[in-house]
Amino acid sequence: MPFPIPLGLVAPMPVLSSEDYKDLQEKIGYHFKNIQNLETALTHRSYKDSRKNYELLEFLGDSIVNFLVVDFLVENFPDHKEGVLASMKAYLISEEFLSSIAEELGLDKYVKISGNRKFVSSSVLADLFEALLGAIYIDSERDMNFLRQLFFEKYGNRMREVVEKGLYKRDYKTLLQELTQGKWKDRPVYRVVSVVGKEHEKVFEVECSIREHRAIGKGRSKKEAQQEAAKKVYEMLQNT
Ligand code: MN
Repeated sequence: MPFPIPLGLVAPMPVLSSEDYKDLQEKIGYHFKNIQNLETALTHRSYKDSRKNYELLEFLGDSIVNFLVVDFLVENFPDHKEGVLASMKAYLISEEFLSSIAEELGLDKYVKISGNRKFVSSSVLADLFEALLGAIYIDSERDMNFLRQLFFEKYGNRMREVVEKGLYKRDYKTLLQELTQGKWKDRPVYRVVSVVGKEHEKVFEVECSIREHRAIGKGRSKKEAQQEAAKKVYEMLQNT
């Protein structure tokens, strides 16, 4: 039996006028020389007329965000250790952070996607923002200095806030799992290796392992030991 198609999904999308793009460009802080670049950045591969979709621009934009975030951190927080900078970076390039910027720009209202625009996922939103940066880079004739300036100007305060309020400090079990899911579609395993000491003075040792990587963490509770073990493996993987 065929699936019933909800009515909302077959309604045609409103056609955007160049006026609408004008608003968006104002928010972005950049005026496209070739509006086609912006349109491509906003076209999902599922869209019926997508001769061009955002995939290539997203691929490019992904690297641009990585670079700009690291450049920002190195310039503004040179006294932090590299391991700390790495976890700040991990947050600042995460789906969570980038999709919140995309949402604020209202990219979900502009995206050309099949189905219901109301349900644009946060992973598509993050992709849209990456694609947008790729598009600006291309459209500005690869003017990285300009793009860097724009990015710092528009999102510098936000990034600083993330660092100063410690919003990037997510728990290591979650961070590690995200990393290994992305890398291998696999998750780490935790195992209690030993418990020593009397009641109220117990020390737990937990091993965290994924593939050939493993580390042991110690703590006053199983949870604390797991966090330490996860942190060690996370840092190991960041350096490989
Ligand atoms: Mn992406």
